[in-house]
Amino acid sequence: MSAIDDLPPLREVITTHGLSARKSLGQNFLLDLNLTAKIARRAGELSDCDILEIGPGPGGLTRGLLAEGARKVLAIEKDERCMPALAEIADAYPGQLEVINGDALEIDPLSHLTPPIRVAANLPYNVGTELLVRWLTPKQWPPYWQSLTLMFQREVAERIIATPGSKAYGRLALLAQWRADAKIVMTLPPEAFSPPPKVHSAVVHLTALPEPRYPADPAILSRLVAAAFNQRRKMLRGSLKGQAPDIEDRLLSAGIKPTDRAEQVGLEQFCALARTFEKD
Ligand code: SAM
Repeated sequence: MSAIDDLPPLREVITTHGLSARKSLGQNFLLDLNLTAKIARRAGELSDCDILEIGPGPGGLTRGLLAEGARKVLAIEKDERCMPALAEIADAYPGQLEVINGDALEIDPLSHLTPPIRVAANLPYNVGTELLVRWLTPKQWPPYWQSLTLMFQREVAERIIATPGSKAYGRLALLAQWRADAKIVMTLPPEAFSPPPKVHSAVVHLTALPEPRYPADPAILSRLVAAAFNQRRKMLRGSLKGQAPDIEDRLLSAGIKPTDRAEQVGLEQFCALARTFEKD
């Protein structure tokens, strides 16, 4: 087996620094450096980019990203116990790894990064979804990031790439696919992690589009999609009734049957519906 760097194996790092996994922090570590290098390669060309990594833990993915040639990695980790292990990696890659001990939901990483920027992370489920929504809804588009390479529970990954008519289709799919290309690039069984989680995982790679796929005002689109999927089994003329007195006409002009349900309606039609509100 080829070592990707001269640092100790991750199992040894965990023992040396007493990094027993904490459930409260969603800690399921990747200890196979061949696997973390493979995930890093899925993030795209790294050599001309700064990488934002959230939740490096003992640093398996961090080591993968650096070994694969990342220009710089900014790693934000909440668990203070991981700092000495991450400092060892920083020593092995002088000037290329900056670590911040803090909560990624509260830290603005931008002042620490130089474009082009890619994001890579293996995060707990709740934090990952919250951050994904924030990355997908910045004040300005295009966003500061070029791509996001994120590990999720497989069920969440399927919601991101879902198409109309499928059970997983909903707000997350529309939000992700409106302004990004999204695909599952790897699936991992529970045994890939230590300790193994209960479910399978998948890595999703999202690439920011220079412009939205179809024009629409983000706030209006988000409001309509939220209302439509809030009562996903209801016909749209019912679930969107409160949006406008002439909602049936608007639906028809957007090419949507008023008797359709939210899960039957594609992104292009939702954007067309949102545009009927821009003229108001
Ligand atoms: N990246 C490592 C790996 O692949 O082995 C660790 C993955 S583990 C699933 C998630 C990591 O995110 C843990 O190290 C945990 O401490 C960290 N974490 C959890 N919540 C966080 C937050 N709000 N901000 C930053 N890091 C967080």
